[in-house]
Amino acid sequence: MVVQKFGGTSVADPAAIRRLIEIVRTARLRDGRGPAVVVSAMSGVTDALLGVAAAAGSSRGDDALSRVEQLRERHLAAARDLVPGTQHGTVVSDIGDSFDQHTAVVRALGVLREVSPRTLDVVAAMGELLSSRLVTAALVEAGLPAEWVDARHAIVTNDDHTRAAPLLRETTAALRASVLPAIDAGQIPVLGGFVGATAEGHTTTLGRGGSDYSGALVGAGIDAREIQIWTDVDGMLSADPRVIAQPRLVPRLSFLEAAELAYFGAKVLHPSTILPAVERDIPVRILNSMRPEGTGTLITARPSLDGTPLTGLASKRDVTVIDITSSRMLMAYGFLRRVFEVFERFRTAVDVVTTSEVSVSVTVDDRRYVEAITEALSEFAEVSTESEMALLCAVGDRLRDEPEIAARVVSVLEEVPLRMISQAASRRNITVVLRQSDLPHAMQRLHQEFFK
Ligand code: ADP
Ligand code: ASP
Ligand code: MG
Repeated sequence: MVVQKFGGTSVADPAAIRRLIEIVRTARLRDGRGPAVVVSAMSGVTDALLGVAAAAGSSRGDDALSRVEQLRERHLAAARDLVPGTQHGTVVSDIGDSFDQHTAVVRALGVLREVSPRTLDVVAAMGELLSSRLVTAALVEAGLPAEWVDARHAIVTNDDHTRAAPLLRETTAALRASVLPAIDAGQIPVLGGFVGATAEGHTTTLGRGGSDYSGALVGAGIDAREIQIWTDVDGMLSADPRVIAQPRLVPRLSFLEAAELAYFGAKVLHPSTILPAVERDIPVRILNSMRPEGTGTLITARPSLDGTPLTGLASKRDVTVIDITSSRMLMAYGFLRRVFEVFERFRTAVDVVTTSEVSVSVTVDDRRYVEAITEALSEFAEVSTESEMALLCAVGDRLRDEPEIAARVVSVLEEVPLRMISQAASRRNITVVLRQSDLPHAMQRLHQEFFK
């Protein structure tokens, strides 16, 4: 049996949800059971909800409430279209109740004028809770035995609100108690992605793009045969299609390559998606819900053995470089520990690190604590920061055994000023840090060289 995760564009409107229904039907006919279905919020809804919270928290209460009404109307219109029959009353009252509660929360935020991460999660989770109800009703209406599963009872997380981490043992137990019984009873369980709850029952979310992660957690929790990520492109592409005009489809990837590409910016896959799949060795397939007949990208443990020297390119924008210089670093031990303790204290992940005798340069993409970090580091080193930088990452298993590929990457970029160059010990990627304004050109050059 498979898990099928559908992203925002794959549930954007009634036409998209009708395509989803046929994709689910096909999987059920093929496997004779399941599938388990995980859905994102309808496209744009999470952004809209976060906008509502921001408006309510900054005394623009009327603006917030009118946005809520637009969202209500969008969901009700989809329900009228997709669920005209027996399920209609239930789904309309479910949607209505959710929005009534939501309106109350938004009014309260307007009074308090403060949005805590915990409240933000209650607001943000609503997109997936609604879309999953709607999709469940639409599947039932189309003659498929779907059953809604509350993701807050299936994914157990810590309390790091807005980017909570799932607790794996608890989540596996919760999935086995909620999703498996539905499958064993011949049903199609449908869950909202992105959403979970703490052991105490507070609603959490897994960070932007986190529905992929939910899909993988469900797949691992119920030991699925395959985790399918249905989206709006044909699969993993050789580069971001918003930067490169005609990237190539990458038909096969290893887990490790996919993890690197996702981590370094290939938005089609949330970076954490691969972890649960690796643990249980479950293949992940990325597919296009607008062209379901395509073969997509298959991600497995086996390194890809086909021809191209690089597998793909990825990039991250809005990266900040922090340079930390101290003569005390020379021949000393313990210096790097002090440096990284500061990042740990501010819960800020470091992406790329390079060092020389007296300096360390690191990149971060979470800017929230950069000032505080700089201040703390200044106690024992000279610190300077540079923003509007970007990170460009070339990934491929062949980089491990063929050093000339890395040399070619750097030489193709010879006219681009590179701020840092790093090749990981896994040697599966080579990453350069450059000015954001140079990124499109650098990307074109590399893509032209390796994928044309
Ligand atoms: P979903 O809503 O289905 O989760 P996302 O918007 O999160 O979809 O991810 C799909 C998008 O990721 C694509 O539309 C594409 O613009 C972008 N993307 C960036 N890099 C890549 C890449 N290397 N391969 C495929 N898509 C990519
Ligand atoms: N709806 C959430 C977001 O927009 C999660 C997801 O779509 O993966 O970030
Ligand atoms: Mg996504």
